Amino acid sequence: MKRKIGKLMIDRNLCIGAASCIAVAPSTFELDPENKAVLRRKQPPPSSDPTERKDLEDETIDDETLLLAAKSCPTQAIIVYDEEGNQIYP
Ligand code: SF4
Repeated sequence: MKRKIGKLMIDRNLCIGAASCIAVAPSTFELDPENKAVLRRKQPPPSSDPTERKDLEDETIDDETLLLAAKSCPTQAIIVYDEEGNQIYP
């Protein structure tokens, strides 16, 4: 992938709690009490809202793993943006 990931979010209307993203990247994704995926942030609480890469709890996670997590989602509920804010997945 050429463009670097700048931001991630979860579309809670699409997320069905399948947890594939958590299987791929447990340091970044978890399920909240409503069984929706949330992003683990340095500053709690975790959230589905747009989250800057630098605010993720696990800063060391690589772009390939984050993209793999997004691609593992059966409903494409994980939206990935580059550093300029352009959507790069799905
Ligand atoms: S893989 Fe998709 S549907 Fe499953 S928990 Fe993650 S975001 Fe939700």
